[in-house]
This record gives sequence, C-alpha cells and structure tokens, in this order.
Amino acid sequence: MKVLVLNCGSSSVKYAVIDTKNKIALSSGLVENIGVNGHIKAKGPINPIDESLDVPTHAEAIFAVQKYLKEQELIDVIEAIGHRVVHGGKYVKSELVTQEVIDYIRSITLYAPLHEPAHATGMEEAKKYFPNLPQVAVFDTAFHQTMPPKAFLYGIPYEIYQDLKVRRYGFHGTSHRYVSAEAIRLLNQKAEDTYLITAHLGNGSSAAAISQGQCVDTTMGFTPLDGLVMGTRSGSIDPAILFFLNKTLGYDIDRLDKLVNKESGLLGLSGLSNDMRTITQAASEGHQRAKIALEVFCYKLAREIGGLAMALPRIDALVFTGGIGENSVVVRELVLKNLSILGYDIDPEKNVNHGKKSSGIITKDGSAKAMIIATNEELLIAMDTEVMV
Ligand code: AMP
Repeated sequence: MKVLVLNCGSSSVKYAVIDTKNKIALSSGLVENIGVNGHIKAKGPINPIDESLDVPTHAEAIFAVQKYLKEQELIDVIEAIGHRVVHGGKYVKSELVTQEVIDYIRSITLYAPLHEPAHATGMEEAKKYFPNLPQVAVFDTAFHQTMPPKAFLYGIPYEIYQDLKVRRYGFHGTSHRYVSAEAIRLLNQKAEDTYLITAHLGNGSSAAAISQGQCVDTTMGFTPLDGLVMGTRSGSIDPAILFFLNKTLGYDIDRLDKLVNKESGLLGLSGLSNDMRTITQAASEGHQRAKIALEVFCYKLAREIGGLAMALPRIDALVFTGGIGENSVVVRELVLKNLSILGYDIDPEKNVNHGKKSSGIITKDGSAKAMIIATNEELLIAMDTEVMV
C-alpha cells in the first residue's frame, strides 16, 4: 500500500509517501517555518524542490505538499493517510480518523498546546484534498498505555489524576515500538520471552522498559519535558527550583516554561549548543562546559536506564536509536561505561562500525548486549495505517 504519512508539528509539516510493500519512501520532505519565512524542501521521483514559500498557516502547508505530490505524479497512487499525533490522551492504539477523533484531539490541546491543534488541522485539510481516502491517527503516547499504575502515577494527590488525568503518558512511542520489534527480530527471540530497554536519543530523548513486547515504564511523563537531559529541555528537575526562581528572580510561568524547555539541557549546560555533534567536538578540544554537558547527559541517561532495569526480570538488550543514539560513538561509549555494573563491555571497533556486521550489537561477545537500531517512525505509521484501513 502507498501511504501518505503526515507529521504536522508546531511550525512545520513533514511528510513521506511510503510504499509499505517495499518499505521505501517514494517522496519525502517538509514545509517549515510556517507563519514566518516559510520554506519547502522535498524530493520526489521527478525533481527535488528547495525554496522559500509563503505559508501563513498549516492549511497552506498541506496545500503545498499535495501540490508537490501532484507535480511528482504521486497524488493518484496514494491509498491512505497516516498522521503522527504527539498526544493521544485516552487512546491506547492507532485510530481511524473520524470527526469524533478530531474533536477529541482538539479537546486535549492543553496536554500539548503547540501540537494538538496542528494535528487536528492537518486531518481536516487532508480531507479536503483526499475526500475519499481513509485517514489513521498514530499516537506517540499509545505504546506506553500498557504501563501499570505504579509506573504511570506521580506521587501527588490521587484526585489530580482522577479529575484531570495528570499522569505519566510517555512519548516517542512509535519509535520505541518500532525498534523493540526490530530488536526482537534481530535477536531471533520470541516477544513473550524478551526484555529490552530502548533509548531514543535525539533532540528530544526518552528511554523505555519493554517487557514481552509491551512498555512497562518510560522516562517521559505528563509532557515530553520529563526524564532525560535533552537538547534544550532540562528533563526531570526538583520542582522546587521553579518556586525558588519565582521568588528570587521573579520568573513567571512563561519565563520558567522557556527556561526549562528552550534554554536548558545540553544548550544550558554547555552555553554553546543543543547539537550533540558540536558538544562532543568541543569537549574533545577541551571546552570545559561542553565536557560537563556531555557527562551530565550520559550519566543521567545511565542512571535512568538503571532505574528502568528495575521494571524487568532481566535485560536481553539495550537498544540505542535516534540521531544521537544511532550516530554518536562517544555517547554510547560513555553511557555503557556508566552502566558497567549491569555487565556491559563495549567493543570499540563494533561501536565505531555501528555494529553492522553483528545485527547492530556493539558489546563484546559474552557481555551484556547493547545494540544500535535505526528508527523508522514513518514506516511504522504507514504499516499501522495499512492494518487499520
Ligand atoms: P533527531 O532528533 O533524532 O533527528 O536527532 C538530532 C540529534 O542527533 C542532534 O543532537 C544531533 O547533533 C545528533 N546527531 C546527528 N548526527 C550525529 C553524529 N554523527 N554524532 C553525534 N550526534 C549526532
């Protein structure tokens, strides 16, 4: 099946046309900077495009995507549309898009204020151009809905969970689901007898404990701010720090929001960049704060992985994925060094060669297994869409 996968973000629309049979993208691209200095960059079978474009809202961005697909003679081959949705609230699996689903997504805007309205608009606009095609919503939170209450509840009054559904939801679920299924396949094990920890490390990062193919705990929480230190996000911090900054510096809610979401993480610690490539390069050249940022990132990740291990009877493999997980030799090395108590002994050559010769495994034979698996969220969204329609 040929599926148009749409990822409507806060200020961008990413897309891919996926052929699920051959597991390839026939065309992919993005419209970014919606509202200011719009830009389209896309490639298709006929010709690529990379130019400025006036896109005041998401509606014009979807129009631009379908126009490009028409030019690439792909518009008529698309059989269904799959949407990536950041927050699924109550949904425990992918859903066929109906007006009720769109209305529910809008109703939980407060859970992910920048994303949910964009997703709902994306679905409505797509319906205008593809009125006869089925659409499916694939939620980042859905895979984590199997967590038990002891993992998803916060230690705050229970009524806040009951009345307002404040709980750990977890994110990057599509990626954790994809790489855990791939790991089970590569390890040649049965899902019912496999226990994994998956670490999705990119601009946003999260780790998850996977028991018998199901998520039993994860590091992201009510929002994607919780858990690990990220590019510009702080990850978990003592909430009293926010009260303290309010009282000492007069920071209000908006200022604090910006501080922990946009000015913290690798950027805040290093004072240099949120990009792991810049951080590791600067650290190797002796930049002290880059070194600190790298150490904090890797130590906190190892500490969280140690915590997630408590959710499992054993760990068959630790899986690295995402831009950093798949590409940073240094991060993998430091994380596994921090985790030597769990029996990891990295093979430096396999780590550099991305473990290509050994099903992605980067640890020495006989030691605990760590492996690299490239994530493919678009493919999983397309495959879910195919199953649902
Ligand atoms: P993602 O959000 O999955 O696209 O990942 C983005 C992150 O991956 C950024 O922090 C990049 O610096 C990082 N990244 C990409 N390539 C490399 C690399 N070769 N080495 C280290 N980090 C990388």
